Amino acid sequence: MGKFSKFMIVLLGALALAYYWLLVNAGPSNAPARTFDIAAIRRAADAIPGSKPTGVTFAPLAARTIPGAALAAGTGLRQVTSGVISWRLETADGGIVVDPGLSEADAASMGFKNYDQRAHRLIEGWMDRAGMILFTHAHIDHIGSFLDHPRFESVVGKAVVSEGMIGNINSLWRENARLLGEARKLAPIEPVAPGVVLIQTPGHTPASEMIYVRLASGQEYLFAGDTASLWVNAEIPTPRSRLVADWLAPEDRPAVIGWLKGLKALKEKNKDLVIVPSHDADWVFTHGATYGIALAPELRRRSPIK
Ligand SMILES: [Zn+2]
Repeated sequence: MGKFSKFMIVLLGALALAYYWLLVNAGPSNAPARTFDIAAIRRAADAIPGSKPTGVTFAPLAARTIPGAALAAGTGLRQVTSGVISWRLETADGGIVVDPGLSEADAASMGFKNYDQRAHRLIEGWMDRAGMILFTHAHIDHIGSFLDHPRFESVVGKAVVSEGMIGNINSLWRENARLLGEARKLAPIEPVAPGVVLIQTPGHTPASEMIYVRLASGQEYLFAGDTASLWVNAEIPTPRSRLVADWLAPEDRPAVIGWLKGLKALKEKNKDLVIVPSHDADWVFTHGATYGIALAPELRRRSPIK
């Protein structure tokens, strides 16, 4: 075998190893599962008296196509649509906004395309009318529209911001962050409204939360945030690729794997509970309606995302 052939074999072997390590390997597989105390979560959902939410609406704000393996290790290079998606729980007092998304400038800087200005105005209106604004975590694609809200001072008091969110992502908070005032100390399982419970799930960020929602109808949802950006993250379960989770957007990978194992176990025992992935535009457009998650009526005639 000539020197060149040997070199090529070594090179291809190294590339294959790098591909496996960065985009396929879903380990460490021995990361301990983190469990959800669903009985305690359901009790918390009943702890605050009043009417529970009556529905869930979503507004897609921007999207980009990326190889599935980037957000779900080992799922191959098939392109998936990663969307910035904002959610609204319908309530009697103006609704609860979950993850209002980001501004057009931030979307462009993160590589998101098809920015929908109409959806952005709609989400700003949601925040204007809302009784409460919640965040699964404090990354800019989840909180940017809130920080950049043109009437920030009139909406800031509605946001539930944990101490950890302020503490560990200070660099991401801009001018308006100074006006946030007291961040809240939250219990591991904290009810914030009738049927709405924040669950501390540190991993993707140290202050990441999942948001449990029980509607008046009894339907249950768990907004997983970026612990499960795609539906397959919790289904397999598999975390983000090492390329993303270790290099591009570092996270506590063993913790995330633990929560994903916990989500899968939770789903197996509670088949009607809907785990809502944060960025899975393909899932929400294909399956959302089946689970009672409706595209905002204002966006139904034309969404540039789909
Ligand atoms: Zn995100």
